[in-house]
Amino acid sequence: MSNSNHGFIIRETRFIKEIDANVMIYQHVKTGARLMHIDTNDENKVFTIGFRTPPENSTGVAHILEHAVLCGSDKFPSKEPFVDLLKGSLYTFLNAFTAGDFTLYPVASMNDKDFKILIEVYLDAVFFPKMKTIDEIFYQEGWHYEMLTKEDDLTIKGVVYNEMQGAFSAPERIIAQKMNETIFPDSVYKNSSSGIPNVIPNLTLEEFKNFHDKYYHPSNSYIYLYGKMDLNAILSMINNEALSKFNFLDIDSSITDQKLFKEPVTSDCVYPIAENESEDGKTWFALDFVLDLQNNPSLIFSYEVIAHLLLSTPAAPLKNAFLEAGICKDVFGSFDNSCKQPVFSLIIKDSDIIHKEKVLSIFFDTLKDLCKKGIDKELIEASINIKEFYLREADMGGYPKGLIYIFASISDWIHDVDPIESLCYEEVLNETKSALTTPYYEALINKFLIEN
Ligand SMILES: [Zn+2]
Repeated sequence: MSNSNHGFIIRETRFIKEIDANVMIYQHVKTGARLMHIDTNDENKVFTIGFRTPPENSTGVAHILEHAVLCGSDKFPSKEPFVDLLKGSLYTFLNAFTAGDFTLYPVASMNDKDFKILIEVYLDAVFFPKMKTIDEIFYQEGWHYEMLTKEDDLTIKGVVYNEMQGAFSAPERIIAQKMNETIFPDSVYKNSSSGIPNVIPNLTLEEFKNFHDKYYHPSNSYIYLYGKMDLNAILSMINNEALSKFNFLDIDSSITDQKLFKEPVTSDCVYPIAENESEDGKTWFALDFVLDLQNNPSLIFSYEVIAHLLLSTPAAPLKNAFLEAGICKDVFGSFDNSCKQPVFSLIIKDSDIIHKEKVLSIFFDTLKDLCKKGIDKELIEASINIKEFYLREADMGGYPKGLIYIFASISDWIHDVDPIESLCYEEVLNETKSALTTPYYEALINKFLIEN
């Protein structure tokens, strides 16, 4: 199928019954930019543009860039174009995110004219930002030395530097970063895309600008449109105002997989407490597992269910096993599928180092016991029902529906997995529900956690 449309050709069209809409995948001929369009009558229109931005170190370059491109552009040179433009705008969502290996700029609006302007501002911000010529933006948003009077000490300041100093004062953040370094020693995921405070000042202006040149290019972009709109006008604007001004660039932004370990590895780190505070009951433990799920949608959904039932319900057997043993104050964890290699992680908060072996035995004994006796089917069903509700309603605290869909698809898309698949959940639901009569979940826990 090829149908040239403002510089784009349609690569794929599919009707997705789960969201009652046609989904089109376009490619921009000149630059290779990818565009996904969900054609619905929803007035709450969504536009996002994303770039694959794998961090080569923990200087936070991707995060600083996310801040910096929003500090004015060629067509919208005001220092804070969004603040100025949004007075009176009817937007329903506007933000920017730096994830582990990509950066996303989403915006939503109910009003056609408003929507078009917001897209134009975002396109100009990411492709033609003032930060390319105004060096102060880097110093202001990233880091700079500061000494206001001769008597003052020389200090480091900067919007992102200060933000990350705050973030890395929390033990949650420190231990999560240490775990990433431990389980992903040969992958970009060992680096913090947000930036680690004492590493941020290693970033030079030149590296900062090079990062923009390399990754903020149409050939490395992922554009998304959702809702009721004049598609021709929007495609035409995206082509004329942005993409057509570039040529194809062969950008290597692919993510190399971490080779799985043959045996468990351990590491430790420290976090600050007050000088006169006792270290008793201040030890945290974390257990992380890289799950080799091979992008299989059923396995991924099943692990969301497993993480939920083990840790997040009132009956959560894994959480309760730790709490009942009285060795910690809290337990939480997650299944994170946003990286190319999904991770199951568990954090045991406010414990003591003498419980190190016990943490491992509680974890494995509880899971082995569950597998042997079989998990309570009602518990599994309850967790499936909650996950199913979120899928069907696309309801997450009042976010526009179109935003929920791109959040569900973007990490697949960025990792070269078909972004449409994650929207087709019916088959996955049927498969995982029919597994309720077999020891399917027990087998998954055994294979990917106990035997991992
Ligand atoms: Zn920030």
